[in-house]
Amino acid sequence: MKLILCPDCGDLVTLRVRSVRFCECGASSGQYEANGHDAWYAGKAIPVGALNGDIRRAIEDRKLGLGEEHGNFKAFIFSPAALHYQRRA
Ligand SMILES: [Zn+2]
Repeated sequence: MKLILCPDCGDLVTLRVRSVRFCECGASSGQYEANGHDAWYAGKAIPVGALNGDIRRAIEDRKLGLGEEHGNFKAFIFSPAALHYQRRA
């Protein structure tokens, strides 16, 4: 899952294919390409990723009541050199 984090307003926004997504203050934006895998971000956006499988497992762990440490998932910041998530001017 690709998201944008705005350093100005703090919004963390999930990208979509059908429309450009913006943070609350409008300083950051991004969108998935039509292939649903590649994406772009613009403005002040910081490109964030999270593994979908990790999130699904964390949700299941929560349902099972396994506790906080089992409901975690890892998020990461994409490198500027990432091939599938690139800055658009
Ligand atoms: Zn913002």
